[in-house]
Amino acid sequence: KSKEKSGTYHHFFKSEMSDWSMESIYLENALYKALENDELSLHYQPQVDSKTNRIIGAEALLRWNHPTRGMVSPIEFIPVAEETGLIVPIGKWVLLNACKQLKKLHAQGNSNMSVSVNLSGRQFEEDDLIPMIESILVETGIAPEFLHIELTENQIFKNTHVTLEKMREIKALGIKIAVDDFGTGYSSLGYLKNFPIDTLKIDRSFMFDILTDKDNAAITSTIITLAQNLNLNVIAEGVETAEQLEFLMAKNCFNIQGYYYSKPLPVEALENYIDILTPKV
Ligand code: C2E
Ligand code: MG
Ligand code: MG
Ligand code: MG
Repeated sequence: KSKEKSGTYHHFFKSEMSDWSMESIYLENALYKALENDELSLHYQPQVDSKTNRIIGAEALLRWNHPTRGMVSPIEFIPVAEETGLIVPIGKWVLLNACKQLKKLHAQGNSNMSVSVNLSGRQFEEDDLIPMIESILVETGIAPEFLHIELTENQIFKNTHVTLEKMREIKALGIKIAVDDFGTGYSSLGYLKNFPIDTLKIDRSFMFDILTDKDNAAITSTIITLAQNLNLNVIAEGVETAEQLEFLMAKNCFNIQGYYYSKPLPVEALENYIDILTPKV
């Protein structure tokens, strides 16, 4: 409590810091430089319509190639970026680059593809979130319906009032909103009625042992039925095997993202993947 009183106390606390906080201070400084030094990049994971085997979209996933540590997982550095607020400039960079890349893919003839971008709840605390998104759409010339924003339930409910208002503004722009990791949050289902949501993404944890695990099978089926009855789109995430795919297709879930089709890919590899999937005659 007396921490804020003087720098001496601050110093004292520092010497007591855990490895975990040392690590996060290290990451914070390194991440700060990462943006300037071009160490960040985006990989894209294809989303495929399993009925036609055509690509419908791709999720942009952030990658950090650290000069000495190599690839650092977003699971590790996104929380640091959120705590420090660095997620705001990084998130803007992600959105701009994902939209630029989509523009390129559209120009190459994949004119129905969408791009999904993960937004952090922290970005919704910024007053200029909506103008920022709007200006990126204008700058890149992407039609709003091809931009899909992903938010987890926990992010939506961290600051519900502010987030809901901004979600409505995003929706009013014509952008689509998906609930990421659906089924893992702690919220009631009632919100699906009042929130401007287009898509449910079934969390990949429910794909595990789906043929033998009765609970995972029941949860997955229920989410698909729920989406169908509420007129929402549904995407299954983390689909790795033909058996999982068959299970999902038997329940009329055809939008698939997962290693079964492809891991997240660097842009050149994504372009090759699309060409293989949809050969041009
Ligand atoms: P997410 O949005 O739920 O992304 C899906 C994660 O599942 C990705 O991990 C992806 O590589 C992984 N995945 C996809 N298919 C499979 C599969 O078949 N099997 C397995 N085992 N894994 C699969 P990744 O790329 O490590 O991203 C982790 C999380 O980091 C993301 O989860 C998202 O919450 C966050 N993240 C990534 N990029 C961004 C970003 O630009 N902004 C924000 N705010 N968060 C991001
Ligand atoms: Mg996501
Ligand atoms: Mg997810
Ligand atoms: Mg996730």
